[in-house]
Amino acid sequence: MAEQNLESSHKRAMWPALLKGLLRKCPRCAEGKLFNGYLSVEDDCKNCGQEFHHHRADDMHPWITILITGHLIGPVMLYGAINWAIADWIQMIVWPVLTAVLALVILPFAKGFVIALQWALRMHGFASGR
Ligand SMILES: [Zn+2]
Repeated sequence: MAEQNLESSHKRAMWPALLKGLLRKCPRCAEGKLFNGYLSVEDDCKNCGQEFHHHRADDMHPWITILITGHLIGPVMLYGAINWAIADWIQMIVWPVLTAVLALVILPFAKGFVIALQWALRMHGFASGR
């Protein structure tokens, strides 16, 4: 019991775990895959056995995606509206499509980041283990 408490209070390295999560790899071993689809999380790591089924990424990764996408697309769109002579109908097609594509690209990486953050902070069932 004491050994388990000592083990569960041992700090995990935050930044390496976040980098592994961003790369969609297991935050513990960096060898196993974190996802088995676009956003579907593996139940556990096939390499080290770390369980992922209890993660609670919930809405955090969409919020991160919106934050990043908005800060990238918004200024470029405003700059383009002021400085580029692009027809309105073209802008009505280009900006929404570019925003959607960028959001879809960022979303799985943001989810990996959030799950790795939970693992590093021992949140939501990630408390046990090394
Ligand atoms: Zn692993």
